[in-house]
Amino acid sequence: MAGKRDYYEVLGVNRNATDEELKKAYRRLAKKYHPDANPDNKEEAEAKFKEVNEAYETLSDSQKRRMYDQFGADGPQGFGGAGGPFGGQGGYYSYSTSDFGDFGDLGDIFSSFFGGGFGGRTSSRRQTGPQKGADLNLRMDITFEESFLGVEKEITITRNEVCDTCHGTGAKPGTSVKKCSVCHGTGQVTQVQNTILGQMQTRRTCTNCHGTGEVIETPCETCRGKGTVRKQPRIRVKIPAGIDDNQTVVLRGEGDSGEKGGPKGDLYITVKIKKHGIYTRSGNNVLCDIPITITQATLGGELQIPMVDGSKEFYRIPDGTQTGTRFVIRNKGFKSVNSSSVGDFVFTVIVQTPKRLTREQRDLLTQLAKTMNEQPPIKKRGFFG
Ligand SMILES: [Zn+2]
Ligand SMILES: [Zn+2]
Repeated sequence: MAGKRDYYEVLGVNRNATDEELKKAYRRLAKKYHPDANPDNKEEAEAKFKEVNEAYETLSDSQKRRMYDQFGADGPQGFGGAGGPFGGQGGYYSYSTSDFGDFGDLGDIFSSFFGGGFGGRTSSRRQTGPQKGADLNLRMDITFEESFLGVEKEITITRNEVCDTCHGTGAKPGTSVKKCSVCHGTGQVTQVQNTILGQMQTRRTCTNCHGTGEVIETPCETCRGKGTVRKQPRIRVKIPAGIDDNQTVVLRGEGDSGEKGGPKGDLYITVKIKKHGIYTRSGNNVLCDIPITITQATLGGELQIPMVDGSKEFYRIPDGTQTGTRFVIRNKGFKSVNSSSVGDFVFTVIVQTPKRLTREQRDLLTQLAKTMNEQPPIKKRGFFG
């Protein structure tokens, strides 16, 4: 995913482009890079075509566009999946056929140049086409502060990657993959049996090539013919500010490599947030208890409230504040991952009754008690009398 071009740049529009401008740019580029229009340059055109589609897919959706603007180039890879703004997409490239009128059914175009099985839907017809790589699931522990501010972490994962020696073919360099001579490359063999009901034809998977239609005569020594090898790359993961416990970040294309050039699987990272000593979360609000003294409670005063990001907010509480009173500092809670809303910081004051007093303090309090003609309230009500 590194080095991915800016989507606006891909479509050749500026960042304030209207939907109409985006659509126009997309139509023009899709026409330009349509592989039928580039018979001499099919591979490059195909890659551009995919890039244009991906850019348009994100920018034509106002919510995705906002996320992209906010989180940059890794947005669509970084923040999809369950609970995320890009969740629920099965494939890599989705698009509306109405945007594409000139070419008719896009489904046909795609199946013709990506050989079917694209975007996770595996072709059941034959097993010779590219297969999507497996999705990987990981758990990541982050702190409360990291969930509040967002965080980027480098992690090591283990996954199947395309073998560098054979570039995924599975054949030793210099040798080639041959069409299976038993099934003539179809992957299936037909048997004709004579029965009392007449001739019966049965088709079964070719045992010589296991249905792939191809036979590797000299397997690659690095991957033993599989085309992929286990690797442990380090990858960067961006966790968006405001992510909640058990939410999942999807990194598209960071799972296992597909077989025979099939698309890569995705990487799902489920976030676990460690408990904090002071703060808890409720929706997008931050909750915490703030201890205050009896004099602060009685006389009122300015409190210094520690925010999750390490800053301090000054908050004036009124005189006569009771223990357990809640105060709200607006818009100092969690950012929402899915929208632009921000939660509040809600603190509850807890009056601390002093346990150890100096002689002077005790004298002062005794004097205070006298001036207030203080009697325990239950005696006053004659509870015992
Ligand atoms: Zn290999
Ligand atoms: Zn065969």
